[in-house]
Amino acid sequence: MHSGASEVKSERMSPPSSLPSLKLRLTSTLSRKQEPFTPLSPEGVRMYHCGPTVMEPVNIDKFRSYLLGDVLRRYLEYQGLLVRQVMNITDVGHLNEFEEDAVEITASRSGLYAWELVEQEEKAFHQDRRALNILDAHVYPRAREHVPEMIEFIEKLLEAGAAYRVGGHVYFDMGKARSLGRLSGKAREELESLKEKALAASRAGSSAPEKRHPLDFDLWRPDALHQIHWSSPWGRGFPGWHVECVVMSRKYLGTTFDIHSGSEENIFPHHECEIAQAEAAGGEPLARLWLHSRHVLLAGKPISRPNRNLLTVRGLVETGEIRGPEIRGALLSARFREPLEFRPEAVDEAREAIALLRGFRDHHRTGPPGAPPTDALRDRIARAEREFTEAMDDDLDVPRALGAVRRISKDLASVAPCREAAAAVDRFDRVLGLL
Ligand SMILES: [Zn+2]
Repeated sequence: MHSGASEVKSERMSPPSSLPSLKLRLTSTLSRKQEPFTPLSPEGVRMYHCGPTVMEPVNIDKFRSYLLGDVLRRYLEYQGLLVRQVMNITDVGHLNEFEEDAVEITASRSGLYAWELVEQEEKAFHQDRRALNILDAHVYPRAREHVPEMIEFIEKLLEAGAAYRVGGHVYFDMGKARSLGRLSGKAREELESLKEKALAASRAGSSAPEKRHPLDFDLWRPDALHQIHWSSPWGRGFPGWHVECVVMSRKYLGTTFDIHSGSEENIFPHHECEIAQAEAAGGEPLARLWLHSRHVLLAGKPISRPNRNLLTVRGLVETGEIRGPEIRGALLSARFREPLEFRPEAVDEAREAIALLRGFRDHHRTGPPGAPPTDALRDRIARAEREFTEAMDDDLDVPRALGAVRRISKDLASVAPCREAAAAVDRFDRVLGLL
């Protein structure tokens, strides 16, 4: 795992002439349509994914969204592109929808200080992530290591007239956000009523009547009893969650970068707020393409705290009955733009597919070294490659791509071993990550 900004400069990527032509189309949350994807720079693709708040075991709904980032990154690399991937770690000052610090509240329940909890849960997150065979991002910036940059950014927003100070708070003024509602496809009034409902459901004292507009959010929150806090031009306090991703994505990827992704629950308010801040700070869009995975459902209900059906990777692996790659396979059993019902049958199907692919690869690995494939075998591999890329180009249709790999594994299960067939399955698995 890397960290720090220095490596941004050292990563000079391939020259323009080597940029492969892509047929990849992805569903943009902004346009709600499939769009052809072309990198903004010939030097490679820059992508940011909203990472976990490290305060509890991460649930499989969040992991489905991390898989969207992982599979997309793997497929871009399969297509010969260089990718720089950044995922934040939210480790302090995460204001929940009730404007309380969710990290600190959770830590206090376990008798821990906030920093003890986040250190423990960050390690556990990476364990879960590796169990699901999710590749290391190039940078995992931690929010608490970027507070000076956040303070600088908030000052910029104040200078631009996009933020205002009230009683130690610095609020972002959403009343002036031109693009509000574009990402979520909702009218300003609808977003206001969503926010008001959330505030009304909160406990006493969490609303902030001094705000000019119901959608205004804390860029900086004054500290009263907070465990970790920083000094700032506005007194001691801590930054709000929405400022974190905009600052860290711009720091490690520049503006405008290629892809910002997350789960559908990030669309509003989090990503709407990120877009508004970036616009106010310089006019450049933060990212060109916004991608979101839909929810994971259990018995038809989205996995979420209010539904009390949180299912975690850790919890599943600890049963001893299901392994990480099987969870990965089950979470890849529907297209990202569709909701996914997490069913035991999907886990069984993933287990069976993994066994099939592994058996096929192991059989063909015993082929004589250097022996060329027959023409028929070469044609069959080429057909599988065509079917695989056509499926992936179609908005990352992983179930269809896996179908192509399963078909060739069945068709060629009993032909004489040939190492090129094994190599083909290895190439497919660089994207699927199941073996
Ligand atoms: Zn984020």
